[in-house]
Amino acid sequence: MHKHLWFETDKVFIDGKWIHPALGGTLPVEDPSTGAQIGRIARGTQDDIDMAVVAAQSALEGNWGQMTAVERGRILTRIGELVNARLDDLAMIEATDVGKPLTQARNDAIALARYMEFYGGAADKVMGETIPYQQGYTVYTLREPHGVTGHIVPWNYPMQIIGRSIGAALAMGNACVLKPAEEACLTALAFADLAREAGLPAGALNVVPGLGEEAGAALTAHAGVHHISFTGSVNVGKLVQKAAAENVVPVTLELGGKSPQVVFADADLDAALPFLVGACIQNAGQTCSASSRILVERPVYDEVLARMAARYSALRVGPASADLNLGPLISARQKEIVEGFLGMADDLEVAARGKIVPDAPAGGHYVAPVLLADVPPYHALAQQEIFGPVQVVIPFDGEDEAVEIANGTEFGLVASVWSENGARQMRMAKRLKAGQVFVNNYGAGGGVELPFGGVGKSGHGREKGFEALYGFSTLKTVAVRHG
Ligand code: NAD
Repeated sequence: MHKHLWFETDKVFIDGKWIHPALGGTLPVEDPSTGAQIGRIARGTQDDIDMAVVAAQSALEGNWGQMTAVERGRILTRIGELVNARLDDLAMIEATDVGKPLTQARNDAIALARYMEFYGGAADKVMGETIPYQQGYTVYTLREPHGVTGHIVPWNYPMQIIGRSIGAALAMGNACVLKPAEEACLTALAFADLAREAGLPAGALNVVPGLGEEAGAALTAHAGVHHISFTGSVNVGKLVQKAAAENVVPVTLELGGKSPQVVFADADLDAALPFLVGACIQNAGQTCSASSRILVERPVYDEVLARMAARYSALRVGPASADLNLGPLISARQKEIVEGFLGMADDLEVAARGKIVPDAPAGGHYVAPVLLADVPPYHALAQQEIFGPVQVVIPFDGEDEAVEIANGTEFGLVASVWSENGARQMRMAKRLKAGQVFVNNYGAGGGVELPFGGVGKSGHGREKGFEALYGFSTLKTVAVRHG
């Protein structure tokens, strides 16, 4: 699959048309499974962002802004149908661009279709309220779009993050400017084509690939953008929030995490085991909600560790096309970062490692997954987001210590509790510091319907589910004095 592909997509998508970027620059596309260049994309800059924002504003003032909610919903639903009809193509493109095993890439394409279906169906179900007020008044609220929304997405789950962010924004009638990640933006470009084919009016979605510090910074600082949705690292999230502050526009930040799963001695271990490992090694650990910390109550610590280690020893890493448990990391830089963390693990016990298959291409960015045992809760590897296939196991005694360790990082994205005790499940769900808590599961298979976002350094604002529709709209109160 790797030898004959070439993606020549060196254009930006503005106002419903593919055009060369103003400065004509390009960026290479790399296949992380081989390290080979497999194409070129456009290097959009400030001028392209300016044009995209103008096109989005015109869409709001034209056709797109006039559409009813049900019409917007039908277009989203149609995009979902087109995505569903091209699942295999999209999966192949994503697998090649991101390096994720084909099955995982296909699941992302299925999720993209599902987001379009969900937000297509939700578009005409967002309602205001009437508010009892003084005699002689009728007061009601209207949910209105922000206007032009900027969307900056990372490389790890392009299709899923585009689905949740663009889907909700379009459902509410915003016009979007999307800046995909320079490392992986091929499915964002394919998505633009499908949206056009589905009948989305010109300018309602504009896609400008480019570097973060060029196109991304231009988008976040643009005075014509009325809301910014950012998914990525904490450091860039801070820059985005500062830039948004200059224009006094709202931001949704979806940043990283160090999400724990807490396993009590009374847990159903057979049910827990696949989730304990799977929730970290998926996408080679490059997942914001990766469960990179496993907290285990002492009476079952040795058993859980041994069973996790057995699973790790069976994990296989190889090219995306081989569709193994893990693919490569996205880039040489990401591999360096992860190896840097592993360099800090000399004092830790390696419980098990997975294996890179012998025929994995030499230029690919492969890292064998590592399970670290008995890690002190305040060790750097138990505190910092690694964004690679490294998982730490930490013993604890009792609920209070579990809560202290689980909440003892600066993040709070996802957490889970494994226990058969109903009262404990409820107590723990309340006490854990996270935007999502799962009981006797983890991640609920992505859960398009489930509001998602962080507390602390994991960010703020909620995407996914119906809640996102509130984030991508603003509330107007209308007070009518009629006597
Ligand atoms: P990153 O922050 O470097 O890049 C994310 C996006 O921001 C890219 O599109 C990039 O081009 C853009 N960007 C970079 N510099 C910018 C700037 N100065 N102004 C505006 N935009 C800029 O993150 P990354 O390394 O690509 O992704 C990994 C990080 O993202 C991890 O820390 C991970 O936890 C986080 N992440 C979070 C979620 C979530 O939903 N919470 C999802 C995926 C990734």
